[in-house]
Amino acid sequence: MPIPLHSLSHAVPDLVTAAIPNDERLWVPQATNVWFRPLLLDATGGSWVNLLRVRKTGVLSRHRHPAPVHGYVIKGSWRYLEHNWVAREGDYVFEPPGEVHTLVVENDAEMITLFHVFGALIYYGDQDQPLGHDDVHTKIEMCRRHFASVGLGEDYVTQFVR
Ligand code: FE
Repeated sequence: MPIPLHSLSHAVPDLVTAAIPNDERLWVPQATNVWFRPLLLDATGGSWVNLLRVRKTGVLSRHRHPAPVHGYVIKGSWRYLEHNWVAREGDYVFEPPGEVHTLVVENDAEMITLFHVFGALIYYGDQDQPLGHDDVHTKIEMCRRHFASVGLGEDYVTQFVR
């Protein structure tokens, strides 16, 4: 007997949100003049989707991906020092697992890119020394702290978690 599709009750709730928010408080500070805006924090699958916003020039981080990353440039441009291409507005970028690269913004116009990051970002210094990492759980924690500090309450992040 076919299962009625509308009775598949274990699907997690869908999520629709203004990606670029009207409320500035949704941008979580990550470094000076660098923010991320959480869209989906997939604590079950171990990935996250966010907008990265940068309002400065220079090196942002040297990092390695143990799992894939997908990016879509909404505004501005950026590149990796290790590659000879520039990601510009409207470009799609696939970062394969194993990549080690140094993110740099050279144009002083605002940069906004949507990234879907699987697994983790592992940060390295210029001598290859590990400096730390981010994963969906550190991202959730950063959101909790920030949303609490701006008066939205730490549980505000829950709407983005699946
Ligand atoms: Fe990367």
